[in-house]
Amino acid sequence: MGDGVVAETDLDAAELVRPLAGSDWWNVPASGSVPALKVTDGPSGARGERFAGGPPSVCFPCSAALGATWDVELVERVGHALAEETSAKGAHVLLAPTVNLQRSPLGGRHFECLSEDPVLSAHLAVAYVTGLQAGGVAACVKHLVANDTEHDRFEISSEPDERTLREVSLLPFEHALRRAGAWSTMAAYNRLHGVRCTEHEQVLTTILRDEWGWDGVVISDWFANRSTVPSAVAGLDLEMPGPALHWGAALAAAIEAGDVEVATIEAKRERLTLLGRRTGADRQPPGADGPGGGAAAIAVAREAAAAGMVLLRNEPAGSGVPVLPLPATLGRVAVLGPHGDREVIQGGGSARVTPTDVATIADGLRERFGEAVVVEAGCGASRGTPALDGRQLRRSDGTAGVDVEILDGDGVVRDHLRPRDFRVVFLDDPNPGAAIAGWTVRATARFEPAATGPHRFRLKTSDEAELFVDGEPVGEVVDLVAGRSVELVVEARSPNPNARLMVELRMAQPEADDAFARAVAAGAAADAAVVVVGLDNDWETEGRDRDHLDLPGRQVELIRAVAAAQPNTIVAVVAGAPVDLSWADAVPAVLWCWYPGQEGGRAVADVLLGDRDPGGRLPCTMPRRLEHTPAFLDTPPDPGVLHYQEGVFCGHRWYDARDIEPQFPFGHGLSYTTFAIGPPIVDRPELAPGDALTVLVEVANTGSRAGTEVVQLYVGDDAASVRRAPRELRAFAKVALDAGAATQVRLTLHPRDLAFWDAREACWRAEAGSFTLWTGRSSRDLSAPVTVTLTSDWTAPPSAPLHEPVDLSSQKRRERSTGSRGLGGGAT
Ligand code: BGC
Repeated sequence: MGDGVVAETDLDAAELVRPLAGSDWWNVPASGSVPALKVTDGPSGARGERFAGGPPSVCFPCSAALGATWDVELVERVGHALAEETSAKGAHVLLAPTVNLQRSPLGGRHFECLSEDPVLSAHLAVAYVTGLQAGGVAACVKHLVANDTEHDRFEISSEPDERTLREVSLLPFEHALRRAGAWSTMAAYNRLHGVRCTEHEQVLTTILRDEWGWDGVVISDWFANRSTVPSAVAGLDLEMPGPALHWGAALAAAIEAGDVEVATIEAKRERLTLLGRRTGADRQPPGADGPGGGAAAIAVAREAAAAGMVLLRNEPAGSGVPVLPLPATLGRVAVLGPHGDREVIQGGGSARVTPTDVATIADGLRERFGEAVVVEAGCGASRGTPALDGRQLRRSDGTAGVDVEILDGDGVVRDHLRPRDFRVVFLDDPNPGAAIAGWTVRATARFEPAATGPHRFRLKTSDEAELFVDGEPVGEVVDLVAGRSVELVVEARSPNPNARLMVELRMAQPEADDAFARAVAAGAAADAAVVVVGLDNDWETEGRDRDHLDLPGRQVELIRAVAAAQPNTIVAVVAGAPVDLSWADAVPAVLWCWYPGQEGGRAVADVLLGDRDPGGRLPCTMPRRLEHTPAFLDTPPDPGVLHYQEGVFCGHRWYDARDIEPQFPFGHGLSYTTFAIGPPIVDRPELAPGDALTVLVEVANTGSRAGTEVVQLYVGDDAASVRRAPRELRAFAKVALDAGAATQVRLTLHPRDLAFWDAREACWRAEAGSFTLWTGRSSRDLSAPVTVTLTSDWTAPPSAPLHEPVDLSSQKRRERSTGSRGLGGGAT
């Protein structure tokens, strides 16, 4: 051993366990060969150390929007851009991607998941992880596993049957960990079959290590670890956040008592050391929380937002041609609805980031049409008192947002934050070690009222807080005058030196009696109306599921009234999960925008004007009714248990098996051009067990402009001994073609793509017999069927390699040589 190198065997128990728990919320301490590491949230941006108000980061489209791109090449580039953003935060690990499935449209984290389909999620997760890790940043694939409700989320037991666990819940993890080689994963809050995921030996050790041969680090979700010995022996590697709660001294004592073997701890340390080498943490210690926001990242965010927008409907309006794209020469454009000029760009919870900039949809259109844009909200859509956003607030330097000072008990300013809105979470002491007599958080912004009259403020805080308007303490209701700006100051205090002080200011402005009528009139007087409706991050957030599909407030009424008054009405829906769309037939065009990230408003303009094709295809079924959805009988769950009655019939598989007509099917989405997609061309009609099958598909752009299409390959098992869905998505490819151009897409079906999990024999099994293949542009718009026959049974143990690693670069080369303008294939 050279100077300064500590032999791991010389370390005492306290030192051995030191790097196995965080030192604070985001940092992991160094010890011996384990370098110090820093992690940050994910998935739609790298937030840094502050929940709100730290140095800003690019806010990318939410994961559901990435899911809607069906574009592995683009999602890989998003991952790569996120690596740069994470490095700007001085971090080595991004707590992303979230690969749980969109099981119920009511799920609070629906927006944070890629799709309802395990295969689509698996391929996109591989792309995300590949791009991120190519940039030297570890993915932390979350939340392992079956973390599918926010209801009772720290205690609930998810109880999928064995097949559902393997074929559905675990599949995206299996691809992300085995094929993309993710360097870490996050053990979820929930229990699985009664056992906490942080203590689940069958998942954390038998499946991850023994079967999959995976060598990454298992990190607990924040406070998900509740034990010392059970979690340590089950396979958890790192307790987060720090300082240690159940590990640390308790784990050292367990080692000394012989309840946990030193070898078990050493294996965890080795995995952390490897993570440190992989991410470069051994050469580059954790750094300061710096600003993100490189031009390249912003450009990818805009491209991805447009590529995920789903044109659900585009019918001829008065002029006889489809209402979209809008002509650039349009006269007056009315942007109506509650989300037209609000900063509704991301869902709520730990995924939130402080954006570097925000373009609302009205902003995006103003950049194109200038003064010709008229904005009228018409109605509200908030859950309770609306949040105040950066649009309405100015810092002392004139930028959009709030200035926050953190003062210690002596009134000394210890830190400054710059959140975009009045939501501040002050986490801990920025100068650890100092004796502190409590904290004050002072948040200041100028606010220019848009209306005259009583403004109703709502102050929420974990401790004590007061609101001052122009220096005067005020109560809940304050009379303000339109255009006369005031200074808002919120002061919150906590005597607790370790405070997690939370403060939030909300405000309802006086709503004019004629707001609704004004919006309808503005729509009627314009040449086109864009009605922007949806949900926001008070409705869709980590920690709370919704309990209905309704569009809140008078939004549906507004849509119908505007559509009746203006033939060129386009509805833009901003939401991360399905909502009631029963009104869709009443309007010529519906564009689903998701939570599109900070560039979303510009991306919407790009799509509405036809500068970009609406690239998205639905990654989840849009149901007609809540009662039709697969998890309906389980939502909300019975006390303590999530039953998974739908079994393997997740997402569209449920609608297909039960022949339920969706409002819009999985995979649906229109382009501005038209495509012809041929049936599957198979290289042979018979397959020997273990053979891969190459499927070629002819795709032609039959329209008069360039556009993108997603070729989807569905497979049905004609006579299985177990219940299987009529068809499962098994491969896909996104194709960009110029007008009149054609290409041939090559997809591969691997043996596992025909198989189900045989729970009795604990193996993957594809049964001899015929399988039907369809190509499609949605799960309900399919080609003529083609049959292939598997000559005899194929089985594989769970440890058998999934299939060849994805080589995105070779895929790109291949597609270039076939003449398409670029392709994001979903399967190789
Ligand atoms: C979430 C995780 C997140 C973690 C750290 C938890 O509440 O479930 O997704 O990474 O907090 O913020």
